[in-house]
Amino acid sequence: MTAAKNNPKPAAAPTSFQSPKGMHDVLPADQYAWDVVRDAVRRISEQYHFTRIDTTLLEPEQLFAQSLGASSDVVERQMFTLRTRGDDALVLRPEGTASIARAYIQHGLSQLPKPLRLYYIGSMFRYEQPQAGRFRQFTQAGFEVIGGDDDPMYDAQTILTTCRLMESLKLAKLIVKLNSIGCKTCRPVYRKKLVDFYKNRNSKSSTICKDCERRLTANPLRLLDCKNEACIEIKKNAPISLNSICAYCKAHFKGVLEYLDELNIPYVLDHYLVRGLDYYNRTVFEIFLDREDARGLAASTPDIALAGGGRYDYLMPLLGGRDTPAVGAAAGLERLVDVLKMLDLVRPSPLTPQLFLIHIGDLAKKKSLSIIELLRREGIDVGESLGKESLKSQLRAADKSRAHYALIFGQKEALEEGIIIRDLQTGAQETVPLTHVVHELRRRLK
Ligand code: AMP
Repeated sequence: MTAAKNNPKPAAAPTSFQSPKGMHDVLPADQYAWDVVRDAVRRISEQYHFTRIDTTLLEPEQLFAQSLGASSDVVERQMFTLRTRGDDALVLRPEGTASIARAYIQHGLSQLPKPLRLYYIGSMFRYEQPQAGRFRQFTQAGFEVIGGDDDPMYDAQTILTTCRLMESLKLAKLIVKLNSIGCKTCRPVYRKKLVDFYKNRNSKSSTICKDCERRLTANPLRLLDCKNEACIEIKKNAPISLNSICAYCKAHFKGVLEYLDELNIPYVLDHYLVRGLDYYNRTVFEIFLDREDARGLAASTPDIALAGGGRYDYLMPLLGGRDTPAVGAAAGLERLVDVLKMLDLVRPSPLTPQLFLIHIGDLAKKKSLSIIELLRREGIDVGESLGKESLKSQLRAADKSRAHYALIFGQKEALEEGIIIRDLQTGAQETVPLTHVVHELRRRLK
C-alpha cells in the first residue's frame, strides 16, 4: 500500500460561495414586494399605451461606446465585458435605452405607427462601488416614446407616466428635477462657457479632481455630475445651461414646463442636472422621493433618485439609424422595493386557503393527495400539511392558515368514502360522501 492510501488526504473543505459583490438574490420573503412593483409597471404601461419589449442581456460592446459616449462613466469604467470563444466583445447591458434603439433599427420598428411607446423591465449591470441603493446588478423599468416629432408634450407624458408609476405605489410626494442641456447647435456655446469657467477658476483657487481635469477636455458637462466635494463646491458658481441654450431649445423647455403645470406635476429646475450620457439632448430629469413625505426614512438616508431620463433625439443616428426624436425614462426597481419596505407600504397578505385538509392515519394520507388534486382542479383552494402526521400539529397548521373550513379525513372516512367538512369558526361539522364533496364545498364557499 502506498503512503497516500494509508493516510488519505483530508477532503478539501467544500468552498462556500457567495453571490458576486453588488449582486443580490431576491428571496421568497421579498417576492411579494417585487410582484407589487412589477405589476404596477405593467398596469401603468398598459394604461398609458406602452407595449413591452425585451432585449438581449448581452450586447456588442461598441453599442454603448457609440451611444452613451466613450467618455461616459458607464463606458469608461462600469461595463462588464466578456470575449466569446468566437472573439466577439460583448457586454452585459448597463442600461436599456441603447439596446432598445439597437432593436428599433434592427427590426425596422420605424414602420410602426409613430410615436412608438415601448416599456421594459430587466436586469442591468454596472461595475460600480456597491453602496446603499447602488448595486452591480439591478433592475430597471423604462418607458420610451420613439418617433413622431419632438413635441414637448411627449417629454411631459414620459415624466407623467413615470410619476404615475410611483404614485400607484403610494409614493405620492415626488420631486421632479429638470433641466435642458440644449441641442447640437447651442450646446457647444454652453460647453465653451463651462470650460472657460473651470479653466479660469482652477488657476485661481481650489482645484477640481483628477477625473474632472480629464473630463474638462473629453466631456466638460460631466464636471457638473462629479460627486467630489471640492468639485461640488466649485460647481456652485458654474454657468448654467439655460443662459446659453438657443431660442428653439428654450421654447421647447418652456413647452415641457407648461405641460407639467397643466398636469399639476410639481417640479424644480436643477441647473446643474446634465446626466452623464452623450445621447441626451434638451430635457433631462430625475425623480426623487420627497423626504418630508417619507416619514419612515431615517434622517441619514441620502436623497433617493427613483428614476431618471431625458430626450435623446440623436441616439438613432449615432447607431446608424435615421433622425428619430425620442424621449424616455428608467426607474430603479430595487430602490422602489426598498423604499416601499422602509415606508411599510407593502406587506404580503397571508395566503389564506379556503379550506385545510387534515388526514388521520396511513390509508387516509395515501388518498389525501388525490383528493386535494381533485379539489384544486375544480378551482378550490386547499391548504395542507400532509408531511405532518400528528393531528395536533395539523390542527395548528389549519388554524395558522386562517382557512374557514377544515376537511377531516380519517381511517373511517377513507374506508367509507366520506369526508368531514368542519366549519372552523362555528365548530359545526358534517360528513359528506366524497362524490359530493365538490358540490357541498361550492355551496358553502359561495
Ligand atoms: P440611470 O440609468 O443611471 O439614469 O438610472 C435610472 C434609475 O435607475 C436611477 O434613478 C436609479 O433608481 C436606478 N439605478 C441606476 N443605477 C443603479 C445602480 N447601480 N443600482 C441600483 N439602482 C440603480
